[in-house]
Amino acid sequence: MLITAIESSVVSLPFSMGGPHPLFAGQPWNRLEILLVRVETDDGLVGWGEAFGHAAIAATKAALDTIVAPLVVGRDAGDIGAITRQVLHGVHLLGRNGPFVYAFSGIEMALWDLLGKRCGQPLWRLLGGNTPGRDGLDAYSSLLSYGGDLDLVARNTADARAEGYRHIKLHEVTRDAVLAATAAAPDAAIMLDVNCAWTPPVARDMAASLAQDGLAWLEEPVWPPEDATGLASLRRFGIPLTAGENTAGLFGFRSLIDAGAIDIAQPSVTKIGGIGEMLQVIALARAHGVRVVPHCPYFGPGFVATLHIAAAQIERPLIEVLWLQMEANPFDPWVRVKNGKVSVPTAPGLGCDPDPAVLARYTSTAPLRTEARQSA
Ligand SMILES: [Mg+2]
Repeated sequence: MLITAIESSVVSLPFSMGGPHPLFAGQPWNRLEILLVRVETDDGLVGWGEAFGHAAIAATKAALDTIVAPLVVGRDAGDIGAITRQVLHGVHLLGRNGPFVYAFSGIEMALWDLLGKRCGQPLWRLLGGNTPGRDGLDAYSSLLSYGGDLDLVARNTADARAEGYRHIKLHEVTRDAVLAATAAAPDAAIMLDVNCAWTPPVARDMAASLAQDGLAWLEEPVWPPEDATGLASLRRFGIPLTAGENTAGLFGFRSLIDAGAIDIAQPSVTKIGGIGEMLQVIALARAHGVRVVPHCPYFGPGFVATLHIAAAQIERPLIEVLWLQMEANPFDPWVRVKNGKVSVPTAPGLGCDPDPAVLARYTSTAPLRTEARQSA
């Protein structure tokens, strides 16, 4: 079936987060945004995808509308592997990580949604999964940054634990924040994500000070994220190290793994080039005894695609869920957590087309449409 049109639009959702809204890449972050990708085929089917995301949305949308979508319209929607190779090769001079790869990730995901719908199977089944499980997948609560405010860290950690989360991640940069969270939820596993805050010498000092605090993992401790050697120098402190949300593709992960830099790989399906690229990273990690915990702090088809990928694994990873409260979401209820668990759709494809009424209410930019040229 041929791809006849690709549309991009932005869904903008109000949210609260148990504290003041932070800046994201220097921009006020007070709306939760989904860069939504809609792909149509000539048999009338529609697939949905999501491209990363957050403060990058304007740049990703421009890359999608001007370069990436025109490369894909008119192609056979089932030809996912060949489209992936040709698009990623076609844009590699524009960056192996960033808006162009993010944009393609959203389209690729929609192609898998279309494939599942055409086959009448949910994506987790197409990927070889047995069952999504009656209770769903274990989620972990990913708290946003409270800027070192220990009272907010403690209160929101306790609230997340009370909601049923047994794993809680902080976006803070101090040992005091870890101790505050541990005291607030002593029976929860605590993780610390510092978003590449430290040079390797500072990171080693911090890892030494945190070594006895029982962290379940320390995420992206080193600047820059591609410094695999610097990251590997922290392994000796015994805290499980995680990274990958800023890693470019399969070979970026191979560099991290070859350097012995990570205990847990964190590929991100809306950033890395889509589901096919994500599956390759998972296989690579498995071959080297490295766990995978996906990066998925988003709330649209990218989050749901992550659920399907996770449900298809024998060893099911934790699912990252940002700790915040949305007033609505067109992909409800699949983007909500109940008692620390998240359910996986069982309808064909991603199994969760957006609610048109919610979409109409919260779409902040009119859809931009790229159509296949009619042949003479
Ligand atoms: Mg992170």
